[in-house]
Amino acid sequence: MYSLAVIPGDGVGKEVMKEALKVIDAMNERESIAFDYDIFDWNSDYYLAYGRMMPEDGLEILKNYDAILFGAIGDSRVPDQVSIWELIMPIRKTFKQYVNIRPVKLLDGLAGPLKSDRNIDFVILRENTEGEYSDVGGTMFTGENRELAVQNNIMTKQGITQISEYAFNYARSHDFQKVTNATKSNAIIHVMKFWDTVVEEVAEKHPDIDYEKYYIDALAAYFVQRPESFDVVVASNLFGDILSDLGSAIVGGLGMAPSGNINPEKEFPSMFEPVHGSAPDIAGKGIANPLAQIWSVALMLDHLGRKDLHDQLVAAMESLLQEKQTLTPDIGGAATTEEVGSALIAKLYE
Ligand code: NAD
Ligand code: MN
Repeated sequence: MYSLAVIPGDGVGKEVMKEALKVIDAMNERESIAFDYDIFDWNSDYYLAYGRMMPEDGLEILKNYDAILFGAIGDSRVPDQVSIWELIMPIRKTFKQYVNIRPVKLLDGLAGPLKSDRNIDFVILRENTEGEYSDVGGTMFTGENRELAVQNNIMTKQGITQISEYAFNYARSHDFQKVTNATKSNAIIHVMKFWDTVVEEVAEKHPDIDYEKYYIDALAAYFVQRPESFDVVVASNLFGDILSDLGSAIVGGLGMAPSGNINPEKEFPSMFEPVHGSAPDIAGKGIANPLAQIWSVALMLDHLGRKDLHDQLVAAMESLLQEKQTLTPDIGGAATTEEVGSALIAKLYE
């Protein structure tokens, strides 16, 4: 029995979460796995009513679950900075979710935007808690027209070692051959050289997995020119953020982009969420693509040790895509969110 905290959030987050829960209910019914879940209404309405995104003991409550399934947050009545920094960020940081995983896989049946887009199947592992996104820095006034701002890029040996170890172990356990390091040590000569040194120390401990290194600018071009040549890409916080959005763009867009925020030690719950936001432009229309949310459920199953169920769920998505009957408008269909959820369950158990 796994306990699951569910936070649907705002806008289409609520719509796609409903379909993900339908899938989980179907799995429960067939007893392929047992999930016991609680739904938390911590979203922008909650903020407008109580002045905070979650209760004071929200993190204490979440801590006891095996995993967190998150939808999306964002509402025009609440500043984006509030919804993100008071809900998502505290969860990621408090629960030491230092790996952000983003599969970049073009599912069978889906056409990507690239001329040659077969066999795109790799994973980006982004360092999720330090690096370029540190809060250390500030602005200074040193005289008229001489204002300046500095922001520090802080990388620790422990932080780099952890994400690299995860990358090599992930490659091995998922039948990948190679780890690619995204770097810029030719220009960012202090921190990125340190990053390379530590990644390479870890690489030497995993001689069965190939290792290569590219500068981030060249790597971005290769994502477009030869995406089929990558397996596992390990990247710092900023580089991983940018590469991830590029990655989702080459395999079908935001409606098809899942992610996980992982605490590999399982000391704390990991959180799984689609990459997209609350999509206010289509919220309420019932046409949001639920597959990114459902794929996030699959990543959760893999993390919980049920790679078999992950693979089944991804196979069901592929068979739905190949049939092309029941797809939402963002990937060329005319079906509703609910119809896609139901059709997917039918594929899963056909
Ligand atoms: P968005 O991801 O919500 O939407 C971008 C575009 O993608 C829109 O055209 C939208 O219609 C489309 N889209 C998104 N999800 C889709 C789906 N499931 N199916 C079909 N189309 C989909 O990004 P945005 O418009 O920049 O931001 C809207 C709000 O979401 C903001 O408040 C922002 O802060 C928030 N946001 C939250 C998260 C999160 O919860 N992790 C992530 C990104 C943005
Ligand atoms: Mn991003």
